[in-house]
Amino acid sequence: MTGNCCENIAGCINMREFIGKSVFNGIAIGPLKIFSKEENAVKRIKVDNPQEEIERFTQAKEQAKAELGRIYEKALKEVGEANAAIFEVHQMMLDDLDYIESITNMITTQEINAEFAVATTGDNFSEMFAAMDDDYMKARAADVKDISNRVIGILQGNGTGGNLGDKPVIVVAEDLAPSETVQLDKSKVLSFVTRLGSTNSHTAILARTMNIPALIGINYPEDCDGKMAIVDGAKGTLIIDPDEDTLAKYTKLREEEQEKARLLLELKGKPNVSADGKEIKLYANIGGVGDVASVLANDAGGIGLFRSEFLYLESDDYPSEEQQFKAYRTVAENMAGKKVIIRTLDIGADKQVGYFNLKKEDNPAMGYRAIRICLDRLDVFKTQLRAIYRASFYGTISIMFPMIISVNEVRKAKALCEEVKAELDAEGVKYGEVELGIMIETPAAVMISDDLAKEVEFFSIGTNDLTQYTLAIDRQNPALDNIYDSHHPAVLKMIQKTVENGHAHGCWVGICGELGADTTLTETFLQMGVDELSVSPSMVLKVRNQIRNSKANK
Ligand code: PEP
Ligand code: MG
Repeated sequence: MTGNCCENIAGCINMREFIGKSVFNGIAIGPLKIFSKEENAVKRIKVDNPQEEIERFTQAKEQAKAELGRIYEKALKEVGEANAAIFEVHQMMLDDLDYIESITNMITTQEINAEFAVATTGDNFSEMFAAMDDDYMKARAADVKDISNRVIGILQGNGTGGNLGDKPVIVVAEDLAPSETVQLDKSKVLSFVTRLGSTNSHTAILARTMNIPALIGINYPEDCDGKMAIVDGAKGTLIIDPDEDTLAKYTKLREEEQEKARLLLELKGKPNVSADGKEIKLYANIGGVGDVASVLANDAGGIGLFRSEFLYLESDDYPSEEQQFKAYRTVAENMAGKKVIIRTLDIGADKQVGYFNLKKEDNPAMGYRAIRICLDRLDVFKTQLRAIYRASFYGTISIMFPMIISVNEVRKAKALCEEVKAELDAEGVKYGEVELGIMIETPAAVMISDDLAKEVEFFSIGTNDLTQYTLAIDRQNPALDNIYDSHHPAVLKMIQKTVENGHAHGCWVGICGELGADTTLTETFLQMGVDELSVSPSMVLKVRNQIRNSKANK
């Protein structure tokens, strides 16, 4: 079966399988629960006392703001500041004068109930935002609906938030807004399955943090609520009404997974030393403050890649120096002196941020992205560097620059670091020792890695992009998935060359692309002399296990 369609599977009249895209591995078995948006049916009612309705609206609005404040605090703890920020934005939107004026005008001039005025204003504003060209403004359409539904829920005495019931369920939804996921009782969620959403959506980030399987792009049927189902996070499939054999097979697989996870936990606290005695560093990749808990729970030795662009992606506007400083400082403090490598802003290509207003490109993967933008937008770049340097006082922070293709770029970036340090010195602001490195993601960087090594203290190989540029295969193109091969000898030779050149000129060399977590290559990397592997937190113990069973000498 291909594509995202459903079929009866041979031998069982009810069993249906749906194919989507996995955003996190694992197996979940349980009843499906359609998460309804509580689109409250709102009736238009003529009222005698519009002033009373305005007061009802004002009270409901204040209550909604208070709720959002509590959600913000909860989200801050669970998913970190960058992801929680949206709830502060929602609070501000509720105080927007145009929004309030539209509702109160409608109540007074039409003598109607508050619910209807809020619903109509919500719809009007949402349509207006959706029609705008700017991607950032378009995205506000969902937010204005979200805040209006919250106020309506309060006016109708419904409250908001999904009631999942007593038993754990697989949550299925068209899409999940951050305000919805954050209110869910996480102990009741076995998995997230959505029709829409992307790999970088809030739901995907949450699933990774919670270590539960999640699928997107699943065209589930409307009649599936309450039905028994299986989520196969490895295959990216949802099986509804599984037959006995399938259920038994997945129950066994899930038990095996749980047993493996339990065994792996025994590796916590053990060194990453190969069977013949070679030690390698094993760090974790994160997208934000909220992932640190999982880094610590899986006993990673540090953070080898902090994808700082998530702070920008989750934000509605350029994150300020203070916002960034707080996020970097929190991560550094929580890691308690362990190394935290912050990659400077890597947007463009697949990671578009509306408020940067980047021009549409025919070939964005080879276009205006990462360090190329930063070296043009010095205001943005220096704000980030200042935040990182200030945070470096509170832990052990390193900086690495993405998408490097020339020595000149590295020198410019280093000069900006010096400028920032001089500014901080002049202001009397303290900062720590910050190691500087670059990502090796382009064949150009590999070929001049001997020269680049003289400029920095470390290399981190981004095999995701290195594969893309070495093989000339767009990593976003699903049609080329079958030939996007990170094991290609050209890619492996690039890694080997980078390690050799790095070592010859005093750089340590790590791998932070997905290939670093590929346990079929762990031994190869040890033998190549790779110094560090940085993998997603949930892969740390698996890779540790592999290191301990590998030989570093051929
Ligand atoms: C890479 O390219 O391998 C990498 C780690 O960066 P990203 O996947 O964020 O582009
Ligand atoms: Mg990359």
